[in-house]
Amino acid sequence: MVTASSNSKSDIAANFEEIEGRIRKSAETWERNANDVDLIAVSKRQSVEAIEVALSLRHRHFGENRVQEAQEKWPDLKTRFPDIELHLIGPLQTNKAKDAVALFDVIETVDRPKLARVLAKEMKAAERDLPVYNQVNTGKEPQKAGVFPEDADSFIKECREGLGLNVIGLMCIPPVEEQPAPHFALLGKIAARNSLNRLSMGMSADFETAVQFGATSVRVGTALFGTRSAP
Ligand SMILES: *Cc1c(COP(=O)(O)O)cnc(C)c1O
Repeated sequence: MVTASSNSKSDIAANFEEIEGRIRKSAETWERNANDVDLIAVSKRQSVEAIEVALSLRHRHFGENRVQEAQEKWPDLKTRFPDIELHLIGPLQTNKAKDAVALFDVIETVDRPKLARVLAKEMKAAERDLPVYNQVNTGKEPQKAGVFPEDADSFIKECREGLGLNVIGLMCIPPVEEQPAPHFALLGKIAARNSLNRLSMGMSADFETAVQFGATSVRVGTALFGTRSAP
């Protein structure tokens, strides 16, 4: 049982074991190779101490949702552990694009033409050709980031062919009050028709369903680290 309130070292270790086990089990159930599902440990608003526990467990793939917070936590850790892969999973403002390109290894939230253009420019300037995901707002929620499903094909094409971005897959965050399965299925469909084979989908509450629908990475925070500190 994952307890969302305690972030002690042994709890975090037990949580990693449990979540990795549940990913393996879901992959087995749906006849997928568990090695094809990457666990991104979402460490936003978690302490550096908690991250260090995950690192001591040899976990290396992490997600953060704010550039400024990541700049405070990660440069030292990345120096100490050069094989860390840090994913930006939160909305990115164009004025933070340069900083994001300098710090992150994967940007999962490329969701509009202006941001795509600025990222392409900053990656060129920094000589960092980062893999990116296009974020799709599968539920067409007005407050949520992401390109609408009907605009996804042309946006993906613009990112890849027009701007030369290294788009490796699609990312979504389904509406909280809905069943996630149709959203995961839709993301998979858009990816398939655009020949993209990576899908970043599934969080603490629904990662097993995401694995069922083809997730190649799941982004799990509270189920690994416990409750986050207040924003
Ligand atoms: C916070 C966050 C997660 C992790 O959410 P949990 O419910 O804590 O697992 C995953 N993806 C994104 C985009 C997030 O912002």
